[in-house]
Amino acid sequence: MKLPIYMDNHSTTPCDPRVLEAMLPYFTEKFGNAASRNHSFGWEAEEAVDQARKQIARLIHADPKELVFTSGATESDNLALKGVVEMYREKGDHIITSSTEHRAVIDTAKALEKKGVNVTFLPVDKTGMVNPDDVRQAITDKTILISIMLANNEIGTINPIKEIGKIAKEKGVLFHCDATQGVGKIPVDVQEMGIDLMSFTAHKIYGPKGVGALYVRRKAPRVRLVPLIDGGGHERGMRSGTLPVPLIVGFGKACELCEQEMAVESERIRRMRDRLQEGIMSALEEVYLNGHPTERLPGNLNLSFAFVEGEALLMGVKEIALSSGSACTSATLEPSYVLRALGVGSDLAHSSIRFGLGRFNTEEEVEYTINRIVQAVEHLREMSPLYEMAKEGIDLKSVQWAAH
Ligand SMILES: *Cc1c(COP(=O)(O)O)cnc(C)c1O
Repeated sequence: MKLPIYMDNHSTTPCDPRVLEAMLPYFTEKFGNAASRNHSFGWEAEEAVDQARKQIARLIHADPKELVFTSGATESDNLALKGVVEMYREKGDHIITSSTEHRAVIDTAKALEKKGVNVTFLPVDKTGMVNPDDVRQAITDKTILISIMLANNEIGTINPIKEIGKIAKEKGVLFHCDATQGVGKIPVDVQEMGIDLMSFTAHKIYGPKGVGALYVRRKAPRVRLVPLIDGGGHERGMRSGTLPVPLIVGFGKACELCEQEMAVESERIRRMRDRLQEGIMSALEEVYLNGHPTERLPGNLNLSFAFVEGEALLMGVKEIALSSGSACTSATLEPSYVLRALGVGSDLAHSSIRFGLGRFNTEEEVEYTINRIVQAVEHLREMSPLYEMAKEGIDLKSVQWAAH
């Protein structure tokens, strides 16, 4: 076993060597511009892009023509929300989303709010799930878009997307889904789930960074968007700019591998995750699972260790790459807004660690991680006066702390 161990696969994943191999020729001898219509270099690039479109579309049960390539899921989320709002402005000015969305959706919705759009941020239950009835009740005759994520990037909770899709269809409201964490890990079918727009990205599924896609439904209904970027009219006018052919080829290969290997791989990852959870929770007291016990991504484990600062714990296990709170907010001292939305108290939110298992993790790494986490938590608790007091039966809430 080699150190350090990478167990932060919700942040990004390593590129699969098979993906890299597929990409390499498109940096050198096959360097053509896919929009060059007049020579073989262009045709070769276009063919490669078409092939990738098919591989990607197949994984999500879409038509290849319904994919718009972007720089990643952040851009896809921006294009979906801003593009729909601008296109359908006369129809209405209300959108519905949830309080545990990725920052790419939350911050885009807030930017739209500043421009006069009405946004409903739906709450979630204590497992992190959106209630479809809340979606139904939030819809008004001014609602033009619902945006709810498939699986959460911190706690892994999987939302009832099919039910929400059904409600959206019934009410004639467009439905966008940020499926970045779910695609390639759990089955995704845009038809069955009633999704009209869907964001996802290559680097979370063992593809390269810098390329993503927005699925845009072409019929029943035909979704139209105002582009964020104007220019040469690439991607049916929805996203101008020369296509990054090598990245797109890698994205296609990554999707093909997920399609072929997902069933077996997910089971293997789920077993390792369950062992990690059981190994840690059976050795330590006062460890709490954040998220849903079963409706959860197979590679996700989010735990709070009472009386331990998440950041301190990470420093104690430096040879294992993990995340405390959200990777995206770990530069600040704010506890995770996702955990707060679940009703997790500030102390336990600060005590949370996210484990993200992926394709290249091994059972040996899991055993090593269990031992090191248990050791580090025990060590930190030994040094904690609060933990000592709690063990002695003192009710910490009743203690009068002196102000300084
Ligand atoms: C990673 C992630 C994004 C951002 O994807 P990029 O391709 O890095 O822009 C958006 N949404 C979710 C749920 C994610 O996990």
